[in-house]
Amino acid sequence: MDFSVPKEYVVYRNQVEAFATTELKSNIIDRDYQGEFSRDLWRKCGEFGLLGLASEPQYGGSHSEIDVLRAVFGMQGLGYGCNDVGLGIAINAHLWAVQMTISEFGNEDQKQRFLPRMASGDWIGAHGLSEDDAGSDVYSLKTSAVEVEGGYVLNGHKRLVTLAPVCDVAVVFANTNPTLGKWGITAFLVEHGMKGFTRLPVQHKMGLRTVPIGRLQFNDCFVPKENILGQVGAGWSISGYSLEYDRCCILSAKLGSMEKQVELAVDFTKKRKQFGTTINNFQAVSHRIASMKSRLEIAKLLLFKMAWMKQQGQSAMLDGAILKLFLSESYVESSMDMIRIFGGSGYLTQHGIERGLRDAIGGIIYAGTSDIQKNIIASHLGL
Ligand SMILES: Cc1cc2nc3c(=O)[nH]c(=O)nc-3n(C[C@H](O)[C@H](O)[C@H](O)COP(=O)(O)OP(=O)(O)OC[C@H]3O[C@@H](n4cnc5c(N)ncnc54)[C@H](O)[C@@H]3O)c2cc1C
Repeated sequence: MDFSVPKEYVVYRNQVEAFATTELKSNIIDRDYQGEFSRDLWRKCGEFGLLGLASEPQYGGSHSEIDVLRAVFGMQGLGYGCNDVGLGIAINAHLWAVQMTISEFGNEDQKQRFLPRMASGDWIGAHGLSEDDAGSDVYSLKTSAVEVEGGYVLNGHKRLVTLAPVCDVAVVFANTNPTLGKWGITAFLVEHGMKGFTRLPVQHKMGLRTVPIGRLQFNDCFVPKENILGQVGAGWSISGYSLEYDRCCILSAKLGSMEKQVELAVDFTKKRKQFGTTINNFQAVSHRIASMKSRLEIAKLLLFKMAWMKQQGQSAMLDGAILKLFLSESYVESSMDMIRIFGGSGYLTQHGIERGLRDAIGGIIYAGTSDIQKNIIASHLGL
């Protein structure tokens, strides 16, 4: 077994980190407070090539092939260099839940129409699966698609959709034959501007405030046949495919954030003095950082293994569930540890520490809650 990392991945990670550190600076505390998504930062990420990681080069992709391992190394650099955690989530949702899904299931016409614009950052993609009454039990979704001449008419809604309020195209799952249950689900590419399609305004939320999240509404929305993604009735397997990529990659930038947290904690505890000594000398404090470091290193191994499996074209349902569960819960625990370590300063917004905890919580909910990941793991054990 070889654990050495190809040099090109390390170089790429460092390039992305340098780009993020210099080009993605923003007044994150104000933007978090205002709940402001930065189209300017998005555009810069497009110019740098970060938004084309899930497209092949002939469709605007930034590299000679889609390489999931290289991408997660890059995302680690992004998370380390850029303190806008919402931006990292937005990029990964756009890439893996939408762009990768079109790269895999789209026909030639769809790839040409959507991928280059998504890769450049001109277009933003969203993935609409969840509904008010279809969360963890997502395949009980009620959005309907009725066949008419030349296409389908969609009625229903999606909720909690990352980037929904600003999306140009959404992969939307609707049922074309409810008598077949989940086997009747079909994926559609719904474009902003289509009659009957509404992107509802931003919904305010606890964290990840720099990425807009909201509802999509379909009222007699006609979608032409050319915008069916994959086969009619293949929506269930398409969503399974995209969820697996989502679980692998959506949190990859958080690895970089966790790396940064460890460095900040070490630095702070070596300077902060109480009882006549720096607080790193208290074992209660240093052990907390030791736990943060351990979580980071275990999460790294899980993420790189999962990315390697996807790169080999393997299905990785079990590994994806373990990774998603461990990385998301670890980020919450380490973000909580940061507040304990920084004490009152950690609680004050101005130091940027409390934002980490607020941003971390969403990770234990989206792409399947931690309970759902445990269900998947248990079912693989025959339980
Ligand atoms: C920040 C964020 C971004 C999101 N982005 C998207 C997106 O881009 N696209 C999209 O389609 N959706 C998105 N979602 C929605 C997300 O996928 C759902 O919120 C999630 O699947 C949980 O569904 P729910 O909120 O309806 O909770 P529910 O399913 O109602 O769950 C409530 C509680 O019950 C537990 N529970 C439910 N069923 C079981 C079970 N069988 N076993 C054990 N426990 C169970 C859950 O774990 C949870 O604790 C996003 C959510 C968040 C928070």
